[in-house]
Amino acid sequence: MKSAHVDQNTCIGCGLCVQLCPKVFEIQDDGKSKAVNPTGDDEAVVQSAIDACPVTAISWK
Ligand code: SF4
Repeated sequence: MKSAHVDQNTCIGCGLCVQLCPKVFEIQDDGKSKAVNPTGDDEAVVQSAIDACPVTAISWK
């Protein structure tokens, strides 16, 4: 199964991925998103967050 990964150096903390896919992504104390549960939702839902990220910080691993 593919798992989601957020590049911490690229994320700007806009929160879009958390809105679209809250089962997988969570904003951390540093204001950036992390895939706290990287396989926690359907791939299509994760993909929607990947596609929506304005800085292309999310990828599959
Ligand atoms: S959508 Fe992209 S930039 Fe916005 S919080 Fe998620 S990973 Fe970070």
